[in-house]
Amino acid sequence: MNPPNVSRPNVTPAQSGARMPVLFVGHGSPMNALVDNPYSATFAELGRSLPRPRAILAVSAHWFVGGTYLTGNPQPRTIHDFSGFPPALSEIEYRAPGSVDLAERVRRALGPERASLNTEWGLDHGTWTVLRFMFPEADIPVVQLSLDRRLDVRGHLTLARSLADLRHEGVLVLASGNITHNLRDAFTRMQTGSTETPPWATRFDSAVVRAVTQRDTEGLLRLWPDSDDGRLAHPSPDHFLPLLYAYGASDAQDSASFTSDTFDLGSLSMRNVLFAG
Ligand code: ZN
Repeated sequence: MNPPNVSRPNVTPAQSGARMPVLFVGHGSPMNALVDNPYSATFAELGRSLPRPRAILAVSAHWFVGGTYLTGNPQPRTIHDFSGFPPALSEIEYRAPGSVDLAERVRRALGPERASLNTEWGLDHGTWTVLRFMFPEADIPVVQLSLDRRLDVRGHLTLARSLADLRHEGVLVLASGNITHNLRDAFTRMQTGSTETPPWATRFDSAVVRAVTQRDTEGLLRLWPDSDDGRLAHPSPDHFLPLLYAYGASDAQDSASFTSDTFDLGSLSMRNVLFAG
């Protein structure tokens, strides 16, 4: 099945030695993969406007496990890690190749004693529902990195910083989560038909914008789990942590810019953050 809005493939290769940008995306509902909406249009536009990466390292909220793993399968499978959605969603395949070389390269960067290759996992919906629009040809190798649930926010940021050098090697670090993600709140709003955005969601989203724009690392790390808004925005940290990977792979030379700065289902921030410079 083709994506609803097939975009022109990006043909501008990353310039040799130039730093690739780093991208955090708000992936939202898996249904975004099936429909032509402003979110998918923005992903397609990002794919057209970014330098074409040599490979992609994806950090998805949906691989939140007890260890640091990299997908080591040369042909990663498309994982349909959801239920209760139309069958058409489970029929989508995103057949991008993997890259054992990149997986090994990232493993060395993270510390070979810490990270290991995993051939069971593939590309979960945090990754493919976005890449399907960004790079519909599925011809760029993709490796996924897991989120180790045993680490605190500082531990994740330390790992993220060790990914920064990949930017000089034509690798796009693509972190996929949501800046606010309280599904209980979102489902309640869906049932009651409320599209109102609660104040805690607006405040948390704004606090993230402020912290990443000002490079206020300590302020960013304080947002979760040490604030009331943070615990409401993220009852579990899996959709927040990818943001730390995008932030950690960027630095003060980058400037942050934002797209899709709206809320879906009332409280789900769909904001994307691009670090480039
Ligand atoms: Zn998700």
